[in-house]
Amino acid sequence: MADFKHCSLLLECAKCEIINYLDPFTFWFFEGKVKCAGCGAIWALKIDNGVRVSGPTEGKAPHDKLPGYAQSKDYKTKITDTTKVNPPVMARADFVGKPIPIRKSIRGKLVSGAPLKAEDLVGSRPRFIMEGRE
Ligand SMILES: [Zn+2]
Repeated sequence: MADFKHCSLLLECAKCEIINYLDPFTFWFFEGKVKCAGCGAIWALKIDNGVRVSGPTEGKAPHDKLPGYAQSKDYKTKITDTTKVNPPVMARADFVGKPIPIRKSIRGKLVSGAPLKAEDLVGSRPRFIMEGRE
């Protein structure tokens, strides 16, 4: 069996020496072409059960997938531009970086799911819940 460098999910580009991280989940079973995030070279490879079994061999455009992340060998250049690497997978497709404030649960009950000020509270309970208003 080849050494780790030649069978792992880390793909070092032979042209620009950028290390392309093939996202473990989406590349676990993969056969196709990956575009290097550093220089745009196309590499054909096959990954079976998380182990690279063939490649990288130079291929022609178009590519099938982008790497999940890429960086230089000295770790100084980090490539996170989503035109070159896949955007990160979000738990919610509509996630915007902050929780969405809510005042009612999905069943229509009042909940305290939004920022409150001191005057909105009675003791430690939200006033609008104690008074039962929306
Ligand atoms: Zn490259």
